[in-house]
Amino acid sequence: MQKDKLIKFFKQQSQIVNQSFINFIFPPFCPICESELKHRERLICENCYSHIKTIESNFCRKCGAPRLGGRKTCKYCKGFTFHFSKVRALGIFSSPLVEMIHLLKYDRKTLIAERLGILMGNLLFSDSDLSQTDMIIPVPLHKTRMRERGYNQSLLLSRIVSSITRKELCNDVIIRKKATKSQTTLNHNERENNLKDAFIVSNFGKIKNKTIVVIDDVMTSGTTLNELSKTLLEAGAESVYGLVLARAISV
Ligand SMILES: [Zn+2]
Ligand SMILES: [Zn+2]
Repeated sequence: MQKDKLIKFFKQQSQIVNQSFINFIFPPFCPICESELKHRERLICENCYSHIKTIESNFCRKCGAPRLGGRKTCKYCKGFTFHFSKVRALGIFSSPLVEMIHLLKYDRKTLIAERLGILMGNLLFSDSDLSQTDMIIPVPLHKTRMRERGYNQSLLLSRIVSSITRKELCNDVIIRKKATKSQTTLNHNERENNLKDAFIVSNFGKIKNKTIVVIDDVMTSGTTLNELSKTLLEAGAESVYGLVLARAISV
């Protein structure tokens, strides 16, 4: 009998079987490092959170990528025209952050958004530009993707960031009108075309002359954040910043 069926069977058989008994029989494990979770650890162990490769000081002032040398921007943004003012990323797109994002996006482990959202909120506070902004907007999902997944991971993160930074969360000012293809196999030009006119502003009054932080899970080429920033700026926003969990480098 599988573990889930066995737990269900136990629960059906006895009223005295509670969660701590189930944890005693089947101790919960961290799905990333497979070590047994300690008391108060929920889903992911503290050791894995402590191993996130954070980007704290030596980063590109434009795209948030880790930077080598003394230049203000990096080789990845060279030649690109970004509409956003600046992006900050919590960490590099590498293990264990990759696994956390995968669990959050594709395995319905939405609890992870709570912890990662706090780390993003702290990063926002620590940044001299992002901390001065007026509001938070999550990258919207198209309604078809929203139906499939059941939740928008960027909105879950934004709710936590908003609650700890006290910045207004605006989830109703921009809509994804185009069901875009997955960006992962596309090159930079194909990504730009894929996202062209993907977003539409539904509440112009809300963002007029406002400074905005757009929240997303991963930034790779930056085309999603760029197209969204362009749409918001054309609609009257003063400036747009990005805050993401991970900065992946596209090659
Ligand atoms: Zn772990
Ligand atoms: Zn850069």
